[in-house]
Amino acid sequence: MALSYKDYLEPSQLPHMWCPGCGDGIILRAYTEALAELELAPKDVVTVTGIGCWGKADDYVSTQAFHGTHGRALAFATGIKTANPDLTVVTLMGDGDAVTIGGNHFIHAARRNINLTAIVTNNYNYGMTGGQYSATTPLKSKTTTSPNGVAEPGFDVCFLAEAAGANFVARTTVYHAVALKNLIKEAILHPGFSLVEVISPCPTYFGRFNVHPSPVNMMNWLKDKAVPVQKYREMSAEEQYEHFAVGKIVVKERPDFYTTYQRINGGQVAAEEGDGNGR
Ligand code: SF4
Repeated sequence: MALSYKDYLEPSQLPHMWCPGCGDGIILRAYTEALAELELAPKDVVTVTGIGCWGKADDYVSTQAFHGTHGRALAFATGIKTANPDLTVVTLMGDGDAVTIGGNHFIHAARRNINLTAIVTNNYNYGMTGGQYSATTPLKSKTTTSPNGVAEPGFDVCFLAEAAGANFVARTTVYHAVALKNLIKEAILHPGFSLVEVISPCPTYFGRFNVHPSPVNMMNWLKDKAVPVQKYREMSAEEQYEHFAVGKIVVKERPDFYTTYQRINGGQVAAEEGDGNGR
């Protein structure tokens, strides 16, 4: 019998705690649908989280789960994947978890090219702790800790992953829910470090301080700002400033950490038999 996304949810933990209009539920649906379509047994998948609203997602899934400390999800995930390369390891992090508090782990997981998938929900602020600005909050945006507008430019999460060496880098939004599911599937299948950045609404904090008074406004904003990556590359700098690219930004085949480690440490025979990940 075909698997359903419901096979990857833990009903006893529902309903979820996210605010009305939050994008996290759409991302959870896309993640669990991707697992179902890949026919991965829940026992063979480890969902690793840190802290924050999106970090609560591990409570709601029936896969194996590890809820770590803030910013450290990728460090725990690296250990899990290295100890048992046969597991499918997926980290669910917000922008605060992934590239603010956890920025150093993010850079080195991409550099190391550890064979796991990071789904980074970017809502441009620390939602759970009250709407403080993070390392991705766009310049001049208002948050609870920048009531007149933040004075720092935000990270481009995809450029950061690309520069650090990630094998697969993609961005989409919760408005593009089907594309999101398909990118997650592709990221899980692609060897090495894979990133799917999802631009997502936080109407409770970021939206209401930044002229997006309702969740519907925020969804329309996502639709208007997102442009396919090829079209984005042809835009002027002024046009690029007003938009962001969606789609696959990097797809390459650099050997992942486990394969390289085996080769360097005399595991050539094992490496030739496969990379330990069923591929
Ligand atoms: S505070 Fe923001 S990110 Fe957190 S659940 Fe509410 S809408 Fe979502």
